[in-house]
Formats: sequence, C-alpha cells, structure tokens
Amino acid sequence: MHELALTENLLEITLKHATAAGAKKVKQLNIVIGQLSSVVDESVQFYWDFVAKDTIAEEAELHFERIPATFRCHNCRAEFSLNGQPDFLCPHCQSVQVEVIGGNEFRLDSIDIE
Ligand SMILES: [Zn+2]
Repeated sequence: MHELALTENLLEITLKHATAAGAKKVKQLNIVIGQLSSVVDESVQFYWDFVAKDTIAEEAELHFERIPATFRCHNCRAEFSLNGQPDFLCPHCQSVQVEVIGGNEFRLDSIDIE
C-alpha cells in the first residue's frame, strides 16, 4: 500500500501551503488522479483521517478529480485518450506502438482554506 506515503506527502504539502497563507482551517483539497494511477480514493481518504488528525486539515473534505489516460502513437504521432475503447490501439491507424503520455498523475491541484 503506497497510499500511506502519498497521503503523508499530501498532508505535508497542504499544511505548508495553508500555513503560508495564514489559514486557520483547511476546508477542501482538490486532488487530481490519472486514470492509470493505481491510487484508490478510499485508501487516501482512510489514511487522511489518520494522518491529518489534530492538524488544521483534520476536517478537510477530499475531492478527487479523475483525468483520462492519454497516449501518443509512434506510427502516426496522433495523441489520443482512452474513451471507452478496451485496448490501447491508436484510433487513427490501429497501431499498437503507442506510449503513455499522461494518466499516472497524483497531485494536489488546489486547497480551500479559511
Ligand atoms: Zn496512429
């Protein structure tokens, strides 16, 4: 389970920004998760309740935004995202020679404080 380390990192960044902004309380975290990331929302939430306890972010609500995986075709250079197709074939030329260019993200997009 790598979510514990990720969640601790998330808290660290959150508290750093919140403290710098003079926040009394962190109300919400907006987190971006790529479709190919193995991060499970529920696990992050679970660990958050644990690691954020007794901090100003204790009651923060975690909001997760999923972004689609994106690929680039080596054959025709087209960039595409997974739109429900079951495989990683290029939709333009059907090549299987594609590379992942996005979708592994796990980052804090913004926080709401008061
Ligand atoms: Zn292609």
